[in-house]
Amino acid sequence: MKRLQEDTIAAIATPRGVGGIGIIRVSGPKSEKIGHLLFKPRGTPPRFFKSHHLYYGDIVSPTTGTILDEVLLSVMRKPLSYTGEDTLEINCHGGRVVLEAVLNEVIKTGARLADPGEFTKRAFLNNRLDLSQAEAVIDLILAKTDRGLDLALSHLRGNLSKRINDLRSSVIDLLANLEISIDFTEEDIHVSPISELSDSVQRIITSINEILSTYDEGKILREGLSVVITGKPNVGKSSLLNRLLEENRAIVTSVPGTTRDFIEEVINIKGIPVKFVDTAGIRDVENVIEREGIRLVWEKVASADVVIILLDGSTNLTEEDIEVIEKNKGGFIIPVINKNDLSPKLKDSDLNKILPGFKPLRISAKYGDGIPALKEEIYTRTLQNNQGDLQPDVILTNLRHKIALEEAAGFLAKAKENVIQGCSPELAAFDVREALESLGEIVGETTNEEVLDRIFSTFCIGK
Ligand code: GDP
Repeated sequence: MKRLQEDTIAAIATPRGVGGIGIIRVSGPKSEKIGHLLFKPRGTPPRFFKSHHLYYGDIVSPTTGTILDEVLLSVMRKPLSYTGEDTLEINCHGGRVVLEAVLNEVIKTGARLADPGEFTKRAFLNNRLDLSQAEAVIDLILAKTDRGLDLALSHLRGNLSKRINDLRSSVIDLLANLEISIDFTEEDIHVSPISELSDSVQRIITSINEILSTYDEGKILREGLSVVITGKPNVGKSSLLNRLLEENRAIVTSVPGTTRDFIEEVINIKGIPVKFVDTAGIRDVENVIEREGIRLVWEKVASADVVIILLDGSTNLTEEDIEVIEKNKGGFIIPVINKNDLSPKLKDSDLNKILPGFKPLRISAKYGDGIPALKEEIYTRTLQNNQGDLQPDVILTNLRHKIALEEAAGFLAKAKENVIQGCSPELAAFDVREALESLGEIVGETTNEEVLDRIFSTFCIGK
């Protein structure tokens, strides 16, 4: 399935906007020739570029003779380049116009504009990375916290691939054993007894399940948690959000319901990106536009990982509080009593009448009391393993990998059943082969072109 790419691609690899430098990346067989055509070194021109060396000079348009930029240029010959192909990198000045002018010349001299993720796709096609490592590249770029970055780096280094390849090799051994029992009878050769076969299938299933069990945490580490702060108007939602953000972005006011829309902010709690949504606008309104806004807020609440129900400790529970509680009861809620600096009216026992078994946290959004405890509660209640001591190299973060592993486990469970039932080994071998196929999809051994295109199209151009 893997094929080498014959054309040469180019793109601006640095982000849009003005910067100190901007890099144009070129990959493919014509890279070096393009370098020779466009680059005029200051000093004696080299007869050929030394690989992995920087050259200083100008990019000159071959048609007009105009100097486009003063650059540093490097050639990295295959296979020791990111893509595994001959690569050219031109470090220009970081202005959009300069970069586009140079890129234009690169295209005119024989390259074409790269598709999103095409450099990484080529790295994959040239066996520089497997598919799960290529996916880690995008996770690395998009990592929101240090822990997310650690995970992406661990996957990029091939730790997940190694686990998957170990599983694949166990499945291949199993398949070999099954095929022996298809081709030979017991008199010809030692054939594994049923119990031995079913035990080895089970061992692989258990290993897969071990990896699968890390997914919930992995997903949180990679994508983060969404936390909605809800409660009646004036209870202190915006104040709490501001306190959590430790800066005043949302407008805090004592007029009920002035935060029209919802506000979202991400903070880092012990390495987990936590997105907070303030629902200050929720209340019954006549206004159509506001009603629409409120509908959106309820959608946010419904899809949130955690809902903080904020109550005012300086007053008794009201109908509105009860309504908010009733609406959210079924989800993952953290009841929090605010305004703890004022003389307390609301007792835990009052709340327990409608929310039995919850010990509410008491905070003062205004003065900051109880905020660290609230952050801790969000962290510990949402992560089963709250020590953060899971080995990063076995944490599953990607839904595609999870589905493939579940499929593999499903096929193996069917194979085991067939073995135990004493069905023909061909039948079990069929499912084991399917399991092998599913595992191969994770590392890209058996992934079809369409899936590959979908994966790489989520990358940015130039990566
Ligand atoms: P929201 O409508 O739920 O977003 O409430 P706001 O955050 O706008 O707060 C409403 C009012 O309550 C403001 O006057 C805040 O200063 C006040 N407030 C918020 N939190 C506290 C608190 O912990 N203690 C006291 N005393 N007042 C608070």
